[in-house]
Amino acid sequence: MILSVCFIEKQNSMSFNIAKSDKKRVIIVGGGFGGLKLANKLKKYDFQVVLVDKNNYHQFQPLIYQIASSGMEPTSISFPFRNIFRKRKDFYYRMAEVRAVFPEKNMIQTSIGKATYDYLVLAAGTTTNFFGNKHIEEVAMPMKNVSEAMGLRNALLSNLERSITSSNEQERQELLNIVIVGGGATGVEIAGALSEMKRFVLPNDYPDMPADLLHIHLIEASNHLLAAMSPEASEHAEKFLADMGVNVMLNKRVMDYKDHKVILEDGHEIPTRSFIWVSGVTAVPIGNMDSERIGRGGRIKVDEFNRVIGLGNVFVIGDQCIQTSDVNYPNGHPQLAQVAIQQGELLAKNLRNIEKGGRLQPFHYRNLGAMATIGRNRAVADFKHLKMQGWLAWIMWLVVHLRSILGVRNKIVVLLNWVWNYFTYDQSMRMIVYARKAKEIREREVMEAKTHLGDDMLSSTGKLKA
Ligand SMILES: Cc1cc2nc3c(=O)[nH]c(=O)nc-3n(C[C@H](O)[C@H](O)[C@H](O)COP(=O)(O)OP(=O)(O)OC[C@H]3O[C@@H](n4cnc5c(N)ncnc54)[C@H](O)[C@@H]3O)c2cc1C
Repeated sequence: MILSVCFIEKQNSMSFNIAKSDKKRVIIVGGGFGGLKLANKLKKYDFQVVLVDKNNYHQFQPLIYQIASSGMEPTSISFPFRNIFRKRKDFYYRMAEVRAVFPEKNMIQTSIGKATYDYLVLAAGTTTNFFGNKHIEEVAMPMKNVSEAMGLRNALLSNLERSITSSNEQERQELLNIVIVGGGATGVEIAGALSEMKRFVLPNDYPDMPADLLHIHLIEASNHLLAAMSPEASEHAEKFLADMGVNVMLNKRVMDYKDHKVILEDGHEIPTRSFIWVSGVTAVPIGNMDSERIGRGGRIKVDEFNRVIGLGNVFVIGDQCIQTSDVNYPNGHPQLAQVAIQQGELLAKNLRNIEKGGRLQPFHYRNLGAMATIGRNRAVADFKHLKMQGWLAWIMWLVVHLRSILGVRNKIVVLLNWVWNYFTYDQSMRMIVYARKAKEIREREVMEAKTHLGDDMLSSTGKLKA
């Protein structure tokens, strides 16, 4: 037993390469809204902090739809961790994907090896939910992160280019039909942005193609849009989108996508080569987590202190957890940035309290409201005592999002971008650019997967599984 622990520590020094200090080590998995807030707040306290994220940057998800619709560059809403934390003492960032947790050994298993912790905080958020439909997962385009949004943008622009040169009438219409599945905030926002692109960009950039050939369909399985918001917000969103020429289809369930057609449960088919899936999320799974610890939406069950039930030093915050102790949210909190931020903030204090022997404070969510924008001049907003729609809500949306973006430089870039787009009716980022991974990186990823994750991560051809 002692031998095996020594071996693990040696492995750690080889992979994570972080010397143990006399401070307690907090490993934070995920530098999203929750993880980033926690890491920032822990600055005041005496911990060694290790942030593990599979990407080397934080991403501001609420504006991802603007990347997909060519309104903004990824660098405006992405922030490298090494830059954010460059002056921090006893702080380490490691780019790695966490796969398993071994609480009895206080150890995590990642794509670069193992690491031990005194406190572990999981804040890995969610991933797109395909509801078990493997075929849709393979063929649809999700829009959950910056790299997916770039993939979607490239595909939409490539389809437009191809539609100009296609001599086949049927293929051209498939290329010009865009189907968005999921009428939540993400679906509503991307539908609005693409409809603006159709109206203001297409006539100028593609003068030889009538813009009215482009059709945008938004499909929702329930009987209203924006299920997480008020009925007023849902109704206004539907009306705004209809006015903008989006075909909103409610009470429709997508079953499959075959031969460039989206197939609905009622047998209806919509031809398209742009099949966008934003129909829901499920928590990022931790491979070996006991099933009794998992709640609705794949979220890990936590107590009022965000502690995994039954584990003293393992916590989960943000979208990845479900907490039912808050009296106002017996079915768990909404999966919103503010919930993750507030939980990260409180957990920093509670970790300090544990160290000092103080009392832990339970989490209560302060609801700051919810918003969605539908193109220029139109948004819907629900606050505790006020519901707003239209231009004023849109101004509120702009202010709230601008304030939330990290860094002065990024705030200025985003503001200039918006002002430019607003007055010129032109989004200027319509280049099709594909990144190609260097051979060195491809080979290293396969080698790391073999060493640290096992052969199940590799396909039969020895390549890394997606
Ligand atoms: C397109 C879109 C638009 C949205 N718009 C809004 C909005 O307008 N307002 C709002 O309040 N909320 C919005 N949300 C929801 C909001 O973004 C989430 O509630 C919030 O990001 C949750 O924060 P988090 O810290 O739990 O996780 P996230 O912010 O998702 O961060 C998770 C982090 O974990 C990393 N990670 C994931 N898996 C692993 C792994 N296995 N190992 C290591 N690292 C990992 C990821 O790279 C990421 O950095 C939106 C979400 C999306 C997808």
